[in-house]
Amino acid sequence: MSRVAPILVTQRVPEPALDRLRQIADVDVNPDPDRVWTSDELLAQVPTRRAILAMLTNRIDSRLLDAAPDLEIVANMAVGYDNVDLAAANERGVVVTNTPGVLTETTADLAWALLLAVARRVAEADRFVRAGRWTAWGPMLMLGTDVHGKTLGIVGLGRIGQAVARRAQGFGMRILYHQRRRAPADLEGSLGAQYASLDDLLRAADFVSLHTPLTAETTHLIDRSALEKMKPTAYLINVARGAVVDEAALADALTSHRIAGAGLDVFEHEPDVAPALRTLDNCVSVPHIGSASLETRTRMALIAAENIVAVLSGHPPPNVVNRPRRRA
Ligand code: NAP
Repeated sequence: MSRVAPILVTQRVPEPALDRLRQIADVDVNPDPDRVWTSDELLAQVPTRRAILAMLTNRIDSRLLDAAPDLEIVANMAVGYDNVDLAAANERGVVVTNTPGVLTETTADLAWALLLAVARRVAEADRFVRAGRWTAWGPMLMLGTDVHGKTLGIVGLGRIGQAVARRAQGFGMRILYHQRRRAPADLEGSLGAQYASLDDLLRAADFVSLHTPLTAETTHLIDRSALEKMKPTAYLINVARGAVVDEAALADALTSHRIAGAGLDVFEHEPDVAPALRTLDNCVSVPHIGSASLETRTRMALIAAENIVAVLSGHPPPNVVNRPRRRA
């Protein structure tokens, strides 16, 4: 039987990160770049591993952790870690790390790509041209809505929310934001962002952009009643996590034109997408590619690798998100 490496990488990542890991130990990588292991397949992979470089596609729960008694670290290659049961990891003394910061600008760029695409009907217009349906320039052809000078409502003015706000300044937008704690006055001042209740933000914004983590509190934060508060001319942008939005309610709101449109990177049951969202012209969908630039994915993988190197070398890792019990 071939030797099981101490480090497991659950999906292929940029090579520099694998090179870094191989400096300290053997590494096994999921050989199929296009396939996510099922929970049972992953479970079969973990006994005797000391480290897992995991993705948001991997559910790291007590069942998995119990199958990996030698596990010291789960390095999640994402800033979000809603796929990991932190309490279960704490109990078993397993360190959990994430990759904050390096993906901020790239993810904000994608939020803007979606915002512009849906407001100016870019994806729909591209399909129109490809289908050979463009026969003449027309004064009423593909009329969208202006972005500049409008009101942007940012839910979650953290790292990515702030990067989205900075870009909005270039478009001369009024910026409202909502989160649990009001931001410091100097940050509000430099971004020109005004604090609002969620209800006020939903009622006033022409574009609502979501940037919270997925937690119990933010699950279905944008539900049917939240969508009903939005203007019929407003657009929803989600590059946070799918379940922050009630996807069935959103599909209804888009079908009935209760709101004008949506730009979505994330979905409630990825990779499944509500059928209506796949057919409506007022919805632009992309397959969870918020941080998907070669530069950023390379940096994320390297950070995850450095967290593993630290733990396996007996040093504190730079990006811990939990409080693991001391191991005996
Ligand atoms: P961050 O810096 O921690 O910012 C999160 C913000 O959300 C904070 O301002 C926080 O403010 C706010 N927030 C938390 N709970 C809230 C609640 N219940 N209601 C309203 N606001 C709330 O995180 P980040 O780096 O910007 O990343 C944000 C999220 O984006 C990640 O957790 C991840 O899920 C997602 N993401 C997605 C992609 C992608 O590929 N699509 C890429 C990167 C990140 P308060 O604590 O004051 O409420």
